[in-house]
Amino acid sequence: MIITEQKPLEEILEMLKDYSKIFLVGCGECATTCKTGGQEELLKMKAVLEQNGKTITGSCIPDAPCIASQVKAELARNAKTLRGSEAILVLACGLGAQSVKENNRFSLGAFSACNTICGALVDSAGNFFEKCSMCGNCILGITAGICPETLCPKGLLNGPCGGMNKGKCEVDPDKDCAWVLIYKELEKTGHLDRLREVRPAKDHKKTTKPHKIIMTSDKIQIPN
Ligand code: SF4
Ligand code: SF4
Repeated sequence: MIITEQKPLEEILEMLKDYSKIFLVGCGECATTCKTGGQEELLKMKAVLEQNGKTITGSCIPDAPCIASQVKAELARNAKTLRGSEAILVLACGLGAQSVKENNRFSLGAFSACNTICGALVDSAGNFFEKCSMCGNCILGITAGICPETLCPKGLLNGPCGGMNKGKCEVDPDKDCAWVLIYKELEKTGHLDRLREVRPAKDHKKTTKPHKIIMTSDKIQIPN
């Protein structure tokens, strides 16, 4: 899921300084889980913007505003209210905010109330962990399912740096060194020999943005 945090109120008010009638859009998936764009956060945002002289014309929470069909359907249901609005404040990630901008046919500016931080997994206790940097060339299969690209601050691909100290990372001594974790995991499963393979430098072409993503009838293609 995509992790977001809410922007400081002063920044949101600065963005909206030229507008007084605001429509709010939340997100029923990631931003609800992050408590940045669910029902409760929309109500709080409404209250605080009203205290600052804005009129909240209405709101909606598409399940996933990053998906055009969902955001279009919600905006269409609120067409009358949107016609009487001057701007849309999106409580979702940057994908959601851009999707609202591209899919509102009312030519309203869409402003993001959130900062988009990273992709993360959520454990059963509701804690978030950044585990993948979306490098486009996954090596989990040879690193015992532990991602050095993300867990090692230097993104090292061939074992620990000289700063590793007693299994801890030199950049953050509270954290385990990613390569020590990989070593222990490979040792457990009897695959330490994998560490002898030297991995070539990453092909950073894969991270050139924006990616070209083509959807064919049966699969996604990412041309080089
Ligand atoms: S190597 Fe790490 S960053 Fe790259 S795709 Fe795999 S999990 Fe994600
Ligand atoms: S100590 Fe380990 S995790 Fe930290 S930067 Fe060095 S190799 Fe990466």
